[in-house]
Amino acid sequence: MEPPLCTHCSKRKSFYFRRYSGEKLCQQCFTKNIEGLVWRYVKREQLFKEGERVALAISGGKDSYALAQVMRKIAKRFKLDLVAIFIDEGIGGYREEALQLVKRIAEIAEAPLYTSSFKEIFGMSLDEIHRKSMEKGLEFNMCTFCGTLRRRAINDLARELNASKVAVGHNLDDEAQTVFMNLIRGNLIRLAIRTVLYDKRSAGLIPRVKPLRNIPENEVALYAYLKGAQFYERECPYVRVSMRDEVRNILNTLEEKHPGVKFSIVRSADKLAALLKEHPAILERVKIRHCKNCGAPTTRELCRVCELFQALTAKLKT
Ligand SMILES: [Zn+2]
Ligand SMILES: [Zn+2]
Repeated sequence: MEPPLCTHCSKRKSFYFRRYSGEKLCQQCFTKNIEGLVWRYVKREQLFKEGERVALAISGGKDSYALAQVMRKIAKRFKLDLVAIFIDEGIGGYREEALQLVKRIAEIAEAPLYTSSFKEIFGMSLDEIHRKSMEKGLEFNMCTFCGTLRRRAINDLARELNASKVAVGHNLDDEAQTVFMNLIRGNLIRLAIRTVLYDKRSAGLIPRVKPLRNIPENEVALYAYLKGAQFYERECPYVRVSMRDEVRNILNTLEEKHPGVKFSIVRSADKLAALLKEHPAILERVKIRHCKNCGAPTTRELCRVCELFQALTAKLKT
């Protein structure tokens, strides 16, 4: 059977059926549509100010490839000064391969590439951190450790480069998963805090923006593929079955039965955050202070990075 015609142009054959809306799209209309959705989101939320310097946090995966593609166009319209940043976590045989792709992604974004590493910033690669924690029988979740260090490294490098925003490649699925995980863990307040924190540019914390936030993961992948991405999807050796994986499966099952569920989840969280973000209790929780150990901006007395490293070294002495 012939595939039906594209519901946008009514000329070409459709190749993608968007279940949550019922649209059938041809390849050309699909890529145009994704770029239009991102553009409208960027404008509506006023993610960028004309002329500002934006750091693109890229990893080498499909999300950063798609991010580079859309940001090149957005940068032209807003006259943004784009820089690309890549953090090498120091995972043997994993990140080295990514570097070639990262270089290409920076070229696509037409942005100069700046790199740093865990080793340079924290004095230890992720492999070394892992080895140390294994030696001491510590049950660290390496993904938590890595994520915390990455955020700090990206923020510090972006600040060094005088960027006023960091653009990350998080898609709709990532966002829905985070909301769901906060719910399961009883961290509802965190949703509001996240919004408030990233609204503020204070005390050296560079706001993060997510241009792909409204695009489902499968559409980001499809867009990247149509734009000629070579995928780098070798799984990180430290990935274990995590709560995020479970949540991903649950949400995919729900989405299958009730198309549009991921959007509703993210929208609910946004509405809640909008209601809560002026609340005095929230504002109190997001007061930025300086870590008593390293001086980094944080909402706690001791920042997460120092807390993790202290746990690692404290156990070493026993
Ligand atoms: Zn079409
Ligand atoms: Zn600290």
